[in-house]
Amino acid sequence: MENRVYNFAAGPSMLADEVLIQLKEELFNYNGTGMSVMEMSHRSKLYLDIFNETKNDLKKLMNIPDEYEIFFMHGGATGTFASVPMNLLKNKADYIVTGNFSKKAAQEAEKYGEVKVIYDGKDNNYSKIPSLDELEFDDCDYVHLCANNTIYGTEWKEFPDTGNIPLVADMSSDILSRRINVSDFGLIYAGAQKNMGIAGLSVVIIRSDLIKEPNPVTPSILSYELTRKNDSMLNTPSTYSIYVLGKVLKWLLDLGGLEEIERRNIEKANLLYDYLDNQDFYRPHADKGSRSNMNVTFTTPDPDLDSLFASKAAENGLLNLKGHRLVGGIRASIYNAMPIDGVRKLVDFMNDFAKENR
Ligand code: PMP
Repeated sequence: MENRVYNFAAGPSMLADEVLIQLKEELFNYNGTGMSVMEMSHRSKLYLDIFNETKNDLKKLMNIPDEYEIFFMHGGATGTFASVPMNLLKNKADYIVTGNFSKKAAQEAEKYGEVKVIYDGKDNNYSKIPSLDELEFDDCDYVHLCANNTIYGTEWKEFPDTGNIPLVADMSSDILSRRINVSDFGLIYAGAQKNMGIAGLSVVIIRSDLIKEPNPVTPSILSYELTRKNDSMLNTPSTYSIYVLGKVLKWLLDLGGLEEIERRNIEKANLLYDYLDNQDFYRPHADKGSRSNMNVTFTTPDPDLDSLFASKAAENGLLNLKGHRLVGGIRASIYNAMPIDGVRKLVDFMNDFAKENR
């Protein structure tokens, strides 16, 4: 589409043109109703059809087994990592800290019970994911990890086998980017504003037997029991965000599902990492075996040059490349909707910038 930039933001982030075109087409008149989806009652048949189709498409795309429930919740991933201990933490939970959000999730859980941080990557500045044999689990209610660390640019390639202990994963920044085996997890959650559409929605996929009476302090809106009972409509859900998710899911199904998007994501990430590995100006942050295919983090030789890089890139239609304020440097978020041409253009720009600023 004309006048579109390549937006490398970590979230909210790019949507596919195909999705935006549909949103535009249906904005004033959804399916001949003379109404926008934003204006519909969440209890109307019309909206319930959208809601149920979205759930079914997510189930199809991710191959979610029947014994799992799908919830559409509020409060973003931050709300959800608070709801996890409220609902699942009876005695003790293990947390694996591989970055900022897993640390925040552990701190939140400490309010409700005993939390043991069984791994913390702060000594390596969160540049790597622990190897599976480094991890030892306690007899506990669940183990929590963050599948992709948006800020540091690291990603679990293989998940630990926690046996009978449910594994809980924050997949905010890599859900729908690759195939995963849902039955390896007790609970998966994700804020929608990266690969699932727009902000205002958090998706929870939970094995039904884990839904039990929550901690009595739990607000009704964060209770999994009540969320199941009311089919995510204890109050007005994020109607438009759910509808956008539905469009994103159709786009992914049409292009060949998670297998195809995973292939494209690997191709995009390899372009950037191969370039980084064959030059000596930029320094990648993440260890080779832990590199994220969604968020690629690196630095130039000098922090002032990092800022110059981001502003010059913006002048060239490559936006939001500045690293997170916690780590500085540069971060290219290349979620599902980033076309490979955007990554090619970025690599060309990096090459020119390195030549000019050596
Ligand atoms: N977890 C991860 C991995 C994230 O990337 C983010 C946001 N960038 C969050 C949690 C917090 O998400 P939210 O803003 O939806 O609360």
